[in-house]
Amino acid sequence: MTTSLYTVPPAFAGLHGKTPKELFGQLPTPCYILDEAMLRHNGEMMAAIAKRTGCHFLLAQKAFSNYDLYPLLADYVSGTEASGLYEARLGAEKMPGKEVHVYCGAYKETQFPEVIRYADHIVFNSPSQLAKFGPAAKAAGRSLGLRINPECSTQEGTSLYDPCAPGSRLGTTRAQWDAHMTADLIALLDGLHFHTLCEQDSSALATTLKAVEEKFGFILPQLKWLNMGGGHHVTRPGYDLAELETCITTAQKKWHVEVYLEPGEAWALNAGYLATEVLDVLVNGTTHVAMVDTSAACHMPDVIEMPYRPPLYGSGEAGEQSYTYRLGGPTCLAGDVIGDYSFAQPLQPGDFLLFGDMAIYTTCKNNTFNGMPLPAIYVLHETGQLECLHTFGYKDFLYRLGK
Ligand SMILES: *Cc1c(COP(=O)(O)O)cnc(C)c1O
Repeated sequence: MTTSLYTVPPAFAGLHGKTPKELFGQLPTPCYILDEAMLRHNGEMMAAIAKRTGCHFLLAQKAFSNYDLYPLLADYVSGTEASGLYEARLGAEKMPGKEVHVYCGAYKETQFPEVIRYADHIVFNSPSQLAKFGPAAKAAGRSLGLRINPECSTQEGTSLYDPCAPGSRLGTTRAQWDAHMTADLIALLDGLHFHTLCEQDSSALATTLKAVEEKFGFILPQLKWLNMGGGHHVTRPGYDLAELETCITTAQKKWHVEVYLEPGEAWALNAGYLATEVLDVLVNGTTHVAMVDTSAACHMPDVIEMPYRPPLYGSGEAGEQSYTYRLGGPTCLAGDVIGDYSFAQPLQPGDFLLFGDMAIYTTCKNNTFNGMPLPAIYVLHETGQLECLHTFGYKDFLYRLGK
């Protein structure tokens, strides 16, 4: 990583010193802008790790599935990872010639023939799903895996993002394995899969791998691959790449397995923006509010779900600069608040604001609650040119609601 890229906050490194208004001021708001150069920067980092270690990186499409950018990412990935049939099909069709891996909490009988058609690696959540669908998938020549639960929580706080929390429905524990994995079922397996991390550093992976070894180390030498899931924050400045590479090469040597990693976030971290306009400012007691034409609930749902405070160009923490505002969307939801931000100048209706790190879990997760319009999607090409990928209108709101 070049240090020069990060003389500004990472979320705005892709602007290369230009102001949002200079670059995007002519675009209709709200709109997302995907940053090709930052996607390539992230892709190159992960491809370099793959080259040095011999591991394979997959794109977890649930975080980023703007397929117009797949040709760029195709240079850096071994394939795509899907959460079910539709994403598997998207990967197969939009990233042709690459591997298609799928993991789903539970497959449906009516869908499974199509899953087999599109995916080459199929991961099951439970021994019973493996027993139900594994034989047909195996007969079709697919590589099969089981998601394990190493019961090793490495995250603080919310269990919303902890698949190892007590009572979790995600993955097979050692006790479940011992109770249900017959020799016939084990014979169907080519690999194991675990996904237990979320925005974490490699130390959490190292801790998890110890638990994996303790509980499932006995079976790994008989298998071909180990998929270490997503949640590796590989492209975040300060991530310990050397420790990640040690984790990968240690697993390769110890168990003679191919190692897969399937991050989502890391591919498109800091590789997109959400442009918005201030619609109104008001004061309630001591709180100054700016109403904007985007919504946390509709356009950046993880702001509320995670929760987190997205970076905003030119702003500071509350109180850091002279004028502090609570930014929120125009919807009915009292909690549709993006966060408290401070500015050098007072905000006014018509002001143009730019949120950073908006390529992940946004375009693929947004909604039209309250009849909110969906933001258009633009791409900032490496040449500096802006291209509109899609605009949305009333019909997009309408067509999901009836005939
Ligand atoms: C969510 C998820 C990923 C991607 O996670 P990120 O946090 O976006 O890296 C990968 N694999 C599985 C099974 C997931 O559920």
